[in-house]
Amino acid sequence: MPGDLLLVNGRIRTMDVANPTVSAIAIRLGRVVYAGDDAGAKAAAAPGSPVIDLAGRTATPGLNDAHAHPMSVGFALLDLDLSPERHAAIADLQALVRETVAARPTGTWILGRGYDDARLAEGRHPTRADLDVVAPDHPVMLIRMCHHIGVANSTALRLAGITRDTPDPTDGLFDRDEHGEPTGVLREGALTAVRAVMPEPDEDAMMAALEAGGREFLRQGVTSAVEAGIRDPRELRAYQRLREAGRLPVRTYLMMMIDETLDDLVSLGIRTGFGDEWVRIGPAKLLIDGSIGGRTARMHAPYEGEPDNVGLWMMPPDEFKAKVRRAHDAGFQVGIHAIGDAAIDLVLDAYEEAQAATPRPDPRHRIEHCSIVDDRILGRIRDIGAVPIPGTSFLRHFRDAYVNNLGEWRIGQAYGMRSFARFGITAAASSDAPVVPVNALAGVQTMVTRRDILGRPCNPREAVPLDDALRAYTVNGAFASFEEGIKGTLRAGMLGDVTIFETDLFAVDPDDLVTTRVDYTVTAGEVAYERESA
Ligand SMILES: [Zn+2]
Repeated sequence: MPGDLLLVNGRIRTMDVANPTVSAIAIRLGRVVYAGDDAGAKAAAAPGSPVIDLAGRTATPGLNDAHAHPMSVGFALLDLDLSPERHAAIADLQALVRETVAARPTGTWILGRGYDDARLAEGRHPTRADLDVVAPDHPVMLIRMCHHIGVANSTALRLAGITRDTPDPTDGLFDRDEHGEPTGVLREGALTAVRAVMPEPDEDAMMAALEAGGREFLRQGVTSAVEAGIRDPRELRAYQRLREAGRLPVRTYLMMMIDETLDDLVSLGIRTGFGDEWVRIGPAKLLIDGSIGGRTARMHAPYEGEPDNVGLWMMPPDEFKAKVRRAHDAGFQVGIHAIGDAAIDLVLDAYEEAQAATPRPDPRHRIEHCSIVDDRILGRIRDIGAVPIPGTSFLRHFRDAYVNNLGEWRIGQAYGMRSFARFGITAAASSDAPVVPVNALAGVQTMVTRRDILGRPCNPREAVPLDDALRAYTVNGAFASFEEGIKGTLRAGMLGDVTIFETDLFAVDPDDLVTTRVDYTVTAGEVAYERESA
């Protein structure tokens, strides 16, 4: 429900160039009605409006994550967290499974992720025997942090039809005891064999995941998150049902996978922008290449140490261009996952050709991730008016694999916020969570410091001031979804979405931004998240 709220005595960065810093804002019925000084805001506020005294804390427009997977974030949160920081021994894992068994109906799968046998006190993987004691009737699978090895209990093995007579798959291994019985430990393809019998989540499970995932975004100050890939009607219904129930935590802009959804949308006359301020149809989406980590992003020059490998196309370039053309002609914004420089060039070719054939005033086509660029490509992005959606904390987490695979120079240009600005390109920040954590300030810190998680630099010349990083996470995100007229800045008439940090962000050591917490997240004038001791 849209609410009234008065914020006073703060350092509010409005992202409105005409009025960049104010101490107060007033929100009435979910919309900003005033941004300025305390006295003006008090006069503009609704009588009896709730008040938050910011006491010098920084507030910004609600953060906007321009590319993420909120439903997957939720599913990951609903799985058990087995990380070594929280569980020192197999007995701890058993206790967690026992607790979960008590809370879930018999027969429901229990999935956990993130244990590390090397850091468990026993120095070994748990076995089916360890799990059977605590979960005799629930199928259980625990996956090691690497995602290539896991352990299943007897119920799970039985459901997968795995016995002592089951041969190992060609691409994997069932660990066996001295009598040839599977121990429950599954390697590679053996893990897939058990996973294959896990039921697909139904619509209710999707709603639960979406709500849990959305709450995590709120906790990190994010009020708008692009869902980077709807392929199934159940996903769309889950979003809609949650929104109808008033339980959708964050506003969302839905990327629609071209192969699975475009025909239906076109036949109904639906295109980008259809929907409302909470759930809106976004771009038509495709993937044209892979990843830097997997050496599958499509490059002009080969990967380090592999002179014959320039990565992959996910489909033949001509077929790709035809699909882009079709979405463009139908009035869609287009968003293509393109990471390598050759992939980005192909996307730009496709956009250029589509626009030449069917000119549109402002198609604002996007390049998801848009990782490896140089000045020539940046010039093309500017000329075509495309919007890059960099993964702003990828460098923080993946610097080593990136440098190993593509070398210092090419990675030095990656996600270069300074260069995007130098070319006058509007780039919208994103996490791509759950690929990396939702934490938006991790992305802000990476943009500001160009350092990875161990503090090592990655071309500091691409660093930008804090204000620019915050712009990338607010107003630029709104621009990337054609919503700059309703959000991304705090001025009269805009949605009352605000993020309030625990302190003055501009006084924080840039290397500590990642641990700076959000005190309040406000959507439509209502406090949707409040930190316990805020
Ligand atoms: Zn993604």
